[in-house]
Amino acid sequence: MMTHLTPLPAANYPKRVRNELRFRTLQVLSNQRIAGNFQRVVLGGAELAGFASAGFDDHIKLFFPQPGVAFAPPTVSDDGIVWPEGVRPQARDYTPLYDALRNELTIDFYIHEAGVASDWAREAQPGDSLTIGGPRGSLVVPENYHWQLYVCDETGMPALLRRLAALSTLSTPVEVTAFIAVHDETSKHYFDHLNLRGVTLHWFVGEQREQIAERLQQLTVPEKDYFLWLTGEGETVLGYGSYFEKRHIDPQLLRTVAYWHNK
Ligand SMILES: Cc1cc2nc3c(=O)[nH]c(=O)nc-3n(C[C@H](O)[C@H](O)[C@H](O)COP(=O)(O)OP(=O)(O)OC[C@H]3O[C@@H](n4cnc5c(N)ncnc54)[C@H](O)[C@@H]3O)c2cc1C
Repeated sequence: MMTHLTPLPAANYPKRVRNELRFRTLQVLSNQRIAGNFQRVVLGGAELAGFASAGFDDHIKLFFPQPGVAFAPPTVSDDGIVWPEGVRPQARDYTPLYDALRNELTIDFYIHEAGVASDWAREAQPGDSLTIGGPRGSLVVPENYHWQLYVCDETGMPALLRRLAALSTLSTPVEVTAFIAVHDETSKHYFDHLNLRGVTLHWFVGEQREQIAERLQQLTVPEKDYFLWLTGEGETVLGYGSYFEKRHIDPQLLRTVAYWHNK
């Protein structure tokens, strides 16, 4: 069990990068159901030019205007974001999966019971428009930490996909453990196409928050050269984070982010 905080040379810490904030209206190129519970929407269009996303867990804002309500995206000035008069559309955060060679942006929506984003994705048709903003900033996390832990549910799986794809190209393998909570077995196929050498995936199907908590408490984190990423439902993530805070993990190497909230 880890008891000491071992500072790293500054170069090995994750770094924040600011991006030029832009709003883009894109068109749906395709939409298909993958791995049972995810709706994969591929977006393209001239406004995608110059898109960049340096952090595996970057997010973009997706805007969902009410049907029939005209929507003009905001502009960005020296004073910040300027919204046109009128009703602001609802916005939701999603992980960009950008393919620079094809100039295509993929969003993998986990389809849950109901919600403006999930409902939109279920019904999106080629040619439909979607306005996005960002990513405004990125956290660039070094890839070569020897020991890495990722905890997520379906909402974090697109970010984890980005991360695992990047880690699979490293010449020196690293030890990666992921604890993934899913509502049903079919989501397990989401990573099927990846090379998972050096990666241990632990799946928790159904309501298994307690089991995950127990496993996390039993984990031995090495004294140095580690990185931990905890995401998922807000209260759950807070709980997971508190186990590690008590264990004096370097806060710069522990990333805790609520991906959604039980409302
Ligand atoms: C940085 C970041 C990146 C994200 N990336 C992705 C991504 O790539 N793919 C993805 O699917 N999601 C992602 N999310 C999560 C997504 O933003 C939320 O799940 C969001 O609330 C979905 O919006 P909605 O309009 O469908 O539902 P909402 O209108 O927000 O919620 C409607 C109801 O559904 C419930 N709900 C919301 N999300 C879930 C869920 N996952 N499971 C069960 N119930 C839920 C709410 O509690 C509420 O009762 C990300 C979130 C963050 C912060």
